[in-house]
Amino acid sequence: MVVSKKSTISSVSLFPVVSKKKLAISCSFFCSLCLLSMKRYSKDTEARPGPSKRRCVSHSTFKKWQNELDKEFQAMSWLDCEVSGAKITKLACKTCRKFESKIVGRRNYSNKWIVGAESVRISNIKDHAKTDQHAHAMMLLKKEHAKAAGLGPCSYAPIAKALYELPEDAKASLREKFDIAHFVATEKLSFNKYSKICELEAHHGVNIGSTYVNEVVGKTFCHYIAETKRKELLTCLTQAQYFSLLMDGSVSYRGGGSPGISPPKPLISPPKLISLH
Ligand SMILES: [Zn+2]
Repeated sequence: MVVSKKSTISSVSLFPVVSKKKLAISCSFFCSLCLLSMKRYSKDTEARPGPSKRRCVSHSTFKKWQNELDKEFQAMSWLDCEVSGAKITKLACKTCRKFESKIVGRRNYSNKWIVGAESVRISNIKDHAKTDQHAHAMMLLKKEHAKAAGLGPCSYAPIAKALYELPEDAKASLREKFDIAHFVATEKLSFNKYSKICELEAHHGVNIGSTYVNEVVGKTFCHYIAETKRKELLTCLTQAQYFSLLMDGSVSYRGGGSPGISPPKPLISPPKLISLH
């Protein structure tokens, strides 16, 4: 059914903007669908306000918000704005801009506060301060400052601080569980074995505790062990002036082959030494 060739889509409604008169002329049957559309369109236009004016605030209001939110969200260090005339037209986050490449994969990431948020409201500032991407960007900023000041992870990472302050027996218990996770991974065992080995250790009188003994935690521990090892390796490689790679050839054949057909001979080759300087 063609309602009208000249109909246009309104910015506030998906229904074509047509008058009752036009609709009656263009739809010769004046069918129930047309009537329904008219009814819904008139309802929509009544319920929705016209295009609202973009909210702008003065620079003094912006400064007041910065001060007000500094204690809770450290807003002085990251809250930025775009000014047009004497009014603030957009809000932005300096920290999210700075670490954009590192926060792009965070949960519910959005570049709204990097390009500039058009909704200039204090509630939006609070909402942004509570996002996962912003919290991570702030942690990266603190890490950068801590490194420049020669401070350790306890100064910027709450988890590191909590671990540092753990009682000695809790630290030892955690170390045991990291060892078990490492053992499971390096022995190529199923992570189902992690909780079983924890149980066995407890049975042997090791202070293993009752928390972090399921396979999900075992995988998480293993992930952080791998991440630490990777960082150590990359540091070694970037600091080395030269390094050598030793590549071993394959000396075993595990294929079964078909009955009556002898498997191919294994390729035996001596280790190859490749040196890169
Ligand atoms: Zn931010």
